[in-house]
Amino acid sequence: PPAQLPQDPSKPNLVVLGSGWAATALLTDLDTERYNVIVISPRNYFLFTPLLPSCTVGTLELRSIMQPMRYITRFKSREVLFVEGDATDIDPVKKTVTVTDNSEIKGEVSTQTFSYDHLVVATGADNATFGIKGVYENACFLKEAWDARKIRTKLMDCIETAAFPGQTDAEIDRLLHMVVVGGGPTGVEYAAELHDFLKDDLAAWYPELASRVRITLIEALPHVLPMFSKTLIDYTEQTFAENKVAIRNRTMVKEVRQKEIVVQCADKSIEHIPYGLLVWATGNMPRPINRQLIAKIGPSAQNQRRGIVVDECLRVKGAENIWALGDASATSFPPTAQVASRQGRYLASLFNRAAEAQAAADAHHEAQLLSDTERRSRAVVDLQTATDIPPFTHTNLGSLAYIGADRAIADLPSPASLFTSEKTPGWSFGGVATFWFWRSAYLSNLFALRNRVLVSVDWMRNSIFGRDIGRE
Ligand code: FAD
Ligand code: NAD
Repeated sequence: PPAQLPQDPSKPNLVVLGSGWAATALLTDLDTERYNVIVISPRNYFLFTPLLPSCTVGTLELRSIMQPMRYITRFKSREVLFVEGDATDIDPVKKTVTVTDNSEIKGEVSTQTFSYDHLVVATGADNATFGIKGVYENACFLKEAWDARKIRTKLMDCIETAAFPGQTDAEIDRLLHMVVVGGGPTGVEYAAELHDFLKDDLAAWYPELASRVRITLIEALPHVLPMFSKTLIDYTEQTFAENKVAIRNRTMVKEVRQKEIVVQCADKSIEHIPYGLLVWATGNMPRPINRQLIAKIGPSAQNQRRGIVVDECLRVKGAENIWALGDASATSFPPTAQVASRQGRYLASLFNRAAEAQAAADAHHEAQLLSDTERRSRAVVDLQTATDIPPFTHTNLGSLAYIGADRAIADLPSPASLFTSEKTPGWSFGGVATFWFWRSAYLSNLFALRNRVLVSVDWMRNSIFGRDIGRE
């Protein structure tokens, strides 16, 4: 059977791929009155990624940082169709997207093709592995809700297996060695949460094992957190040293085996490091659907390995009526939630502006003589070829990261650089006060009141009862 669309033949079909930061910001601001909007994503919720590391040890519950997409789409003035599935093919010539339901339960129809007038690719990015052998088979990633759930389960499994009677000393040491690869903010924040769990909870419930748990963070570069200021890098490394989280800078993972990793040290020597749990956080690479689109368009317009190349208005180069934003795109902006959500809002403003112009044109009496199809194609061509669109610009509002033991770091721009083109040095803060700033900043940024309440309750529950150590 054909797909059920919120169809009005006089309005362009706007297909949005993804339910992350970029897609959700776009949807929130988009005036859905003038478009047939279809949102396609394999997960039917928005995930507040900045608090995801807290879900790996039970500081927060996953559902507290999820917002079902239908809570968003149902508030739009005109119906938005949400389809849970993976976009598996984009045909930029026929202007269609094929969607496959990859979930466990399959109905009689599990593949569907949608035609688009505008396609927004907000599919985010995959985990970079650099082709290193054994990563997919043996490591856990930390990008999606299911990754955090898997880490939490495996962590408790390592601890209970280490507690199994008769385990040898060497095996206990291996099982209790928690290794994190990648000293970017994901790796650092996860190591910080793990430290807190060890100190606050494992020490109480597994006193005989807690002192044997080791956390090692492995980073190929000379220091962790290269995007933060030198003062905050030093502060983080010093805090980790105090918290007995070992940082191994200038160490490159070469291979991941089932029970050990092979690393190349700064002096080029090779070392084998046994581990129980390995979390892999070495950054982004394009998702298969994005790579496929890049290949279809061809290297004359798409020549970046990082992602989809776009112009300054987020139009995909070499394609017609396709837009890419957030981690899916290759721009001069960093792949952060801050940038992705601003790009989503920017794109919504472009679509809304075009819709307003179209409404004005339609009101003109000559337009009444046009057919639905003619009116629809006029609306589409306008945005594709317009040269008066203001380019996307972004002012960095600063970076925050949690580093453990109730301490956080913040690199903030100076007010002068926020409001003028003047480049003055920003401010760097670290410590307990910054931790409370970090918490309040994320609490106020959470999508809905419901999530703010759930996160606050989780924090309160943990401070009273501690984290849950049950293995799901
Ligand atoms: P995403 O938010 O990843 O969304 C991509 C969407 O596309 C998802 O809904 C996904 O299900 C969907 N999708 C995937 N494949 C398909 C497909 N084939 N078809 C259709 N849909 C598909 N940034 C900050 O600024 N501050 C932070 O504190 C911060 N903390 C972070 C912590 C962690 C642990 C992580 C992993 C990232 C963090 N980031 C942070 C980075 C931030 O999360 C990303 O930059 C942001 O999510 C990018 O938004 P996006 O919409 O491009 O992609
Ligand atoms: P990243 O790219 O920031 O860091 C990955 C790190 O892994 C790099 O420092 C790299 O040198 C290292 N690495 C790569 N290969 C390695 C190897 N083989 N062995 C050892 N180390 C290796 O990745 P991320 O931390 O996942 O962050 C991704 C994006 O999300 C970034 O833009 C980041 O700013 C953003 N983010 C922001 C926050 C925050 O603001 N608090 C939190 C998480 C993520």
